[in-house]
Amino acid sequence: MKKKTILTGLLIFTFIGILFATTWYETKVKCPVCKTKNTFQQIGSYGGYIYGWPSKYQYIYWPVTETYSVYSCSNCRYSAFMWDFEDISGDTLQLIKSAIDTLSITMKAKKDYTKIPISEKLETAELFYKLYQTDLDFWCRFHRIKGYHYEEENITSKANASRLIALDIADSILTDTFNNYRKKELLLITGAMRHFTGQDSLALIDFENAKSFVYNDPKSDSSNNSGMNDYLDALLVDYENMINNPEE
Ligand SMILES: [Zn+2]
Repeated sequence: MKKKTILTGLLIFTFIGILFATTWYETKVKCPVCKTKNTFQQIGSYGGYIYGWPSKYQYIYWPVTETYSVYSCSNCRYSAFMWDFEDISGDTLQLIKSAIDTLSITMKAKKDYTKIPISEKLETAELFYKLYQTDLDFWCRFHRIKGYHYEEENITSKANASRLIALDIADSILTDTFNNYRKKELLLITGAMRHFTGQDSLALIDFENAKSFVYNDPKSDSSNNSGMNDYLDALLVDYENMINNPEE
């Protein structure tokens, strides 16, 4: 009887494991900068469940929570998020090629990019992105991702510094009235970064404030907007409960 219970438990556990599994497969990717052929990982499958995973409290989502997501060339060390890696051409590629030898990259090149701590790959990628990336949302998310991984690697002071940068950027995005339609989202981000830098009372003010707005992207349709609004509302309530009832 006992054995049967254990077996049933194992089966259920395995079933849930399959249900919530993200998968990867190996792929060859040519470095756009030095033309070296690298072996990287490509996304096989995932599901909407990733939006429920705990990284949501930092408003970042799989796959950026995994080291596979930051590609790094085993020869020249050019590094970027997997979806950006090959996506450079024209002037941007020329800019990178002419600047690469002047960048202060401390990271060592490795054949297996998964053996390099992701925080180091992100620091290297940052040097490249700084050459051409000016989008504030990109940088806000980039620093949230850095904060997440520094903490995972127990580099707490850098995690804190990254989160304060992300907070600063989110605050500045909020000051542009063009972004009023997504105040709910932006206040969730500022609150999250305040929570992760030990400012819970200010975080709760942001969350309460966020709940008073409706997410309404003029470029999106009403069903997507209401889906997003509902997701953010649920996350805000969940977050407030978590902060107010830490023992649960
Ligand atoms: Zn390369």
